[in-house]
Amino acid sequence: MLKKLIKRSILFFVVGILGMNSAFAQQQWDWHISKGTVVDGTGEASYKADVLVRGDSIGYIGEVNADTIRAEHVINASGKVITPGFIDPHAHGNPLETPEFNNFLAMGVTTIVLGQDGSSPAVGALNKWFEEVEAKKSAVNIALFSGHGSIRSKVNIGKQNPTQKEVKRMRKLLQSDLNAGAFGMSMGLEYVPGMYAEKNELEELSKVVGDANDIIMSHMRSEDNSEIESSLDELAMQGKYAPVHASHLKVVYGEGVDRAKEILNYISEIRNRGIDLTADIYPYSASFTGIGIVFPDWAKTESEWKNALQERPEVLRQFLENKLAQRNGPEAILFGSGEFAGITLKEAADQENKSAVDLLMEMGPQSASAAHFVMDQELQDRLMLGENVMVSSDGSPTMHHPRGYGSFAKVIRYYVNEKELLSLEEAIYKMSGLPAKTLGIEDRGRIQEGMKADLLIFDPKVVQDRATFANPHKLADGFDWIMVNGTLVREEGKFKGERKGQVLKDRSISGK
Ligand SMILES: [Zn+2]
Repeated sequence: MLKKLIKRSILFFVVGILGMNSAFAQQQWDWHISKGTVVDGTGEASYKADVLVRGDSIGYIGEVNADTIRAEHVINASGKVITPGFIDPHAHGNPLETPEFNNFLAMGVTTIVLGQDGSSPAVGALNKWFEEVEAKKSAVNIALFSGHGSIRSKVNIGKQNPTQKEVKRMRKLLQSDLNAGAFGMSMGLEYVPGMYAEKNELEELSKVVGDANDIIMSHMRSEDNSEIESSLDELAMQGKYAPVHASHLKVVYGEGVDRAKEILNYISEIRNRGIDLTADIYPYSASFTGIGIVFPDWAKTESEWKNALQERPEVLRQFLENKLAQRNGPEAILFGSGEFAGITLKEAADQENKSAVDLLMEMGPQSASAAHFVMDQELQDRLMLGENVMVSSDGSPTMHHPRGYGSFAKVIRYYVNEKELLSLEEAIYKMSGLPAKTLGIEDRGRIQEGMKADLLIFDPKVVQDRATFANPHKLADGFDWIMVNGTLVREEGKFKGERKGQVLKDRSISGK
């Protein structure tokens, strides 16, 4: 802490001198971004300024007379805004396979957070994975969470409650990941095997996260309208030990603005009890996940499903019947993988001359992923405005859902430009400063002297998301100038092919 303070005061001192001293005029800069409007990522009002970049960092913000400095390159930002690169707190993708990540960059995202929903790579051997990612050179910065489900699988306890010894092993694996630089633990309590975790296990692991000053992000137990409060309660229980965060907040088959307000109030009440609870949300009213989501808890795995077909097919049939009806019917499931990719369950069933339920029973819970149109636009729109709610994509370069290509652009196009539900400053805060603060990324997400130069220069009026459900892999438009760690990677709308992302490692554990 003291070290940090000293470091900070030296930084302020140096910056102060540069600002006043005539030596400033002689400074050599790499980039002079001139005459822009700075939206700094804190939510505060924008202001006109020049931004000077040297190396990988922002060196100066203020009025600059171009004749008095030497800058290698100049970007004329007049008529445009300068914002921090966006931070996507809930993303998917494999930097070892698709390190280009054009889908993210094109919508202004310069940092993605992986290891979500309880699933993360290389549990217990993260240092090696980080090295591999560094060698591959990702185009965006990568932050990682340690997945509770992956830890659980490694300890191989099946559906049981872990013994004390097994809990100890899980704690150790988690600790190893956090030591290596993971930003916290992610949970996937609606999925196998996270769904088998009970209170004691969650508490024991939450303590490890809390001791490391890190955060727990959770795909909660249920996102159904009738269970959203109890899911938040469970998360709040973990929140006694560490900050907690609800991933992709949504209310499946809930409706209306009032219901959204109720949930936001519920979150506020939890926060008022001293629990540090935040959430992210993606701006679409369809989710995307395996079709296992419509199967009962006792038929989620391949073997359970086969068992159920043998032993209680009628119960399964009835369950699926009800579930489909509840989830807006077979028209509301649009396959994104498998043999029916691109058509709805209704269309697939018609094509096969079967009922939708029969087709589902035949396919099984693990056979395909789909977009599920189960959310109410008005409700989700109101949730987006919540005070501690930030933007995520929950998307990837390969997922058959527009959110992986459109989310951050859509927030500006839809919430700022068209609906005017958010000011530009608020929207940028939800996409940069707020996620940085929540995750504990200290040197990104704001435009301030000394911060890393992840920057966007664009005209917000022309930002467009192009991806649709029919055509989900269309890059967003409008973020024409993008800088990652001080390197311009997109110029006048053209990618330059440079991959300048860094692996971000969390160093919040005291003494690290
Ligand atoms: Zn999820």
